Amino acid sequence: MQHFGEEAWADFVRGTGAMATSAEIEAHLAKGCADCMAANGIWDRLRMAAVQESIYAPPDDLVRRIKLELSTRSAEDVFKAEAPVFDSFRQPLVAGVRSGSVTARQLLYEADGLTVDLRLEQERRSGKISVVGQVLDKGTPRSALNKGTITVWTARGLPIVEAKPNNQGEFQLEFEAQENLHLSVAMRGRHPVRIVLPSATSSL
Ligand SMILES: [Zn+2]
Repeated sequence: MQHFGEEAWADFVRGTGAMATSAEIEAHLAKGCADCMAANGIWDRLRMAAVQESIYAPPDDLVRRIKLELSTRSAEDVFKAEAPVFDSFRQPLVAGVRSGSVTARQLLYEADGLTVDLRLEQERRSGKISVVGQVLDKGTPRSALNKGTITVWTARGLPIVEAKPNNQGEFQLEFEAQENLHLSVAMRGRHPVRIVLPSATSSL
């Protein structure tokens, strides 16, 4: 199944795309592709947020900002955190949380002065992964922590869920378990950080 790239989505939600492409996206969404429906929702919310924030800015700026928000996949100056600096699954003494109805995994990532603390749990019944996390960033003043965006992406580069941290940098996410997910942390005024989630995200 053919999905759509960021150019297509940016045009689609702004209503500026080629007629044929827009019709193709609409037909695809009508078939109920869950990934693309989620992507459509995120793109649309990004567009709305950008519109609200840039009422006094020229339209070019809007496009630039939407792209900036989603540039974490293509930008060369993205910092990557491939491996956690702490993983409770590698700490036998701490791994005792695996009991009851959920399995929890605690992970800590560091990149470019930014620290991301993740606690992953998988619901036994739904199989969904829920993440409670916190971002701490030497380069971001406390007052700006809630201006960041945390996004979970599929292997194909589709955004499936996003969250805004609160002013303590705390955030929550819930999504379907699957292989090769990654998470991007985009804080205002710094390079985005991309975290490769453990493959065990599909089987905690
Ligand atoms: Zn799709």
